[in-house]
Amino acid sequence: MALFRRKRRYSPSASALYAVQAGHEPWLDHGLADGETVTCGRCAGQLGVRLVSPSSVTVSHDGALDGIALICTACGRLLCRDCALAASDNPYMPKCDHCRAGVTVPMSR
Ligand SMILES: [Zn+2]
Ligand SMILES: [Zn+2]
Repeated sequence: MALFRRKRRYSPSASALYAVQAGHEPWLDHGLADGETVTCGRCAGQLGVRLVSPSSVTVSHDGALDGIALICTACGRLLCRDCALAASDNPYMPKCDHCRAGVTVPMSR
């Protein structure tokens, strides 16, 4: 027993789910300040930055994100909720229109 060999390759589906390089965390390394005004990378609409702490992430989809900046977890692009939803075919999974990775609210460290 115990001759099971581990594959060293990561499965494509796992890497697609977390298309983030180690040490590169745009949702943390964004340099944004709470209350700052930014523009959406797609529609250039004005968005407010609302930083949340990683321990209390509650991404709501019921309109609470109106006018709130979302950030791509892979490329760091800032998007509004409408543009992120328009880039996705899943209304519960907003995506980056640029690289198709998931978006989230920017977080404070
Ligand atoms: Zn937009
Ligand atoms: Zn992106």
